[in-house]
Amino acid sequence: MKITVAGAGAMGCRFGGSLHAAGHDVLLLDGWPEHVTAINVGGLKTTDEAGTRTVPVPAKLFPANADPADLVIVFAKATATAAVAAAAAPAIGPDTVVLTLQNGLGNIEALLAHVPRDRLLAGTTTLGTELLGPGHIRALGSGETTLGALGSSSPYPERTVATLRSAGIIARIADDPLGVIWSKVAFNCVMNTLCSIASIPVSALALYGGFDELAASILDEIVAVASAEGVTVDKTAVLALMRAQFSPSASGDHLASMLQDLMNGRPTEVAHLNGAIASRAAAHGLAAPVNTAITQLIGLLEVTWPRRVITPSMAP
Ligand code: NAD
Repeated sequence: MKITVAGAGAMGCRFGGSLHAAGHDVLLLDGWPEHVTAINVGGLKTTDEAGTRTVPVPAKLFPANADPADLVIVFAKATATAAVAAAAAPAIGPDTVVLTLQNGLGNIEALLAHVPRDRLLAGTTTLGTELLGPGHIRALGSGETTLGALGSSSPYPERTVATLRSAGIIARIADDPLGVIWSKVAFNCVMNTLCSIASIPVSALALYGGFDELAASILDEIVAVASAEGVTVDKTAVLALMRAQFSPSASGDHLASMLQDLMNGRPTEVAHLNGAIASRAAAHGLAAPVNTAITQLIGLLEVTWPRRVITPSMAP
């Protein structure tokens, strides 16, 4: 398969590197010059518990004059989806299938400007990956990728799942991809934001006895907005999934991606999580004061993070 990865940060490199190693014709497209150069000069390095291996996958800087691919996997941050899709547009031909496994709301709408609905696949992945530096990622543990078509019967999910499996990526078809995406949005709207506001690893949430009540106040608004859009989010299941992360054996000292974005001075995806819930609630005539306040708190952290007071015991 000819596969182009549009947005080759941690996850784009993880998928692209695995697919290239499995023999697919992969091209990574990204906007970070040092990263693209490092990959082209020294190969893509992937570190996991087995050590570090190098894959000679080609990479190009946006905007690229790439040929149409069979499959384009979009792995930009949600904040960059529209720009990345526009920059990668030459790779999307009349037969190209586009796949998004990104977090947040709004990715599907941004991609539909470049690919018809019947050739857009969407889903989520629970694989975890970190970008250690230009051309170097760390693959964390195992996880599952779930994807599906947005319309009715389509041959593309089966073909795409088979392609991912050929690269050792655990993948399955979702009958209800929007439900899967919204459930992950609900999870991230609680876990990412609370860990960021409190500046704690995921497992430390277990210390707070009021967690269920606080999480429910965020989730109730999300369930209502999802319902207004015809999507079912199972609040009890999402809450149970969150509590499962409290065990140090499940999440260890893992830091939520939003907290990592704040620590690295990068914009967060909050506008596509709680912010999107707040704006969609307004569009449906619903109230979402908790998600609105959380969006504002994360916005406050984005601009004030460098001024945070750090006690001597917290200094490195
Ligand atoms: P990422 O932050 O690794 O990369 C996103 C973009 O930022 C890339 O274009 C990358 O090149 C650029 N970038 C990163 N560091 C940079 C730097 N120092 N200077 C300049 N540019 C830099 O993003 P990701 O973690 O791969 O996430 C992509 C999407 O997948 C998001 O929607 C995310 O929420 C989702 N996701 C991530 C994970 C994960 O474990 N990383 C898991 C599931 C879903």
